[in-house]
Amino acid sequence: MTTNSPELPRNVLDAFDATTGFMPLDEGRALFEAACTARPGTWLEIGTYCGKSTVLLAQAAREVGGTQIVTVDHHHGSEENQPGWEWHDTTMVDEHSGLLDTLPSFRRTWDDHVRDVVSAVVATTEQVAAWWSTPVEFLFLDGNHVEAMAQHDYAAFAQHVAPGGLLAVHDVFPDPNDGGQAPWHVVERALAEGFEEVSVTGSLRVLRRA
Ligand code: SAH
Ligand code: MG
Repeated sequence: MTTNSPELPRNVLDAFDATTGFMPLDEGRALFEAACTARPGTWLEIGTYCGKSTVLLAQAAREVGGTQIVTVDHHHGSEENQPGWEWHDTTMVDEHSGLLDTLPSFRRTWDDHVRDVVSAVVATTEQVAAWWSTPVEFLFLDGNHVEAMAQHDYAAFAQHVAPGGLLAVHDVFPDPNDGGQAPWHVVERALAEGFEEVSVTGSLRVLRRA
């Protein structure tokens, strides 16, 4: 990364620490630094959860200026977040649906930390794909990791990344012993379809459309 990257302010780091989610700090810093190099405009995050990564993207959007972020999630979690699965959080179950519900937690993140630069869409990515048409300067794919859904999200939204725009993919594990393969397959596809690698930090890959 460049040596002149903006600093993450203490209050943003505190918000990041206080927000539940799936983003280690080193990968979060890399996400922030990459986003700080993106052009202003519309940025799109797929997979909000409670807004942990969103807090960092929001700070990058403030640094860059002239930027609004759309973050998409149905807020009922992925397969691995449901009752009985590895990444289930029993403190966030909605009695009405019986499903994980991250929306109340994200709502607090939005109120306290990101409302100036973030619009939240509560919907499936299939729904949003049906109407999305805005060019995207920074796309962060961190949603469903089932192969068909990861491929769907890439196909639906990467086509809107403008030339020179950035694509970040989380949970990329080239070695099957380290984790699920779908995000890695998405990266391989992106590299075959005109994206070039910019950086690798843990499981975070940043690419740029040529
Ligand atoms: N970026 C977050 C983590 C996202 S976890 C962080 O930094 O902590 C992945 C999210 O994808 C979950 O919240 C889940 O609800 C969402 N998701 C899974 N499948 C989805 C789909 N088909 N449509 C919309 N959101 C989906
Ligand atoms: Mg992730």
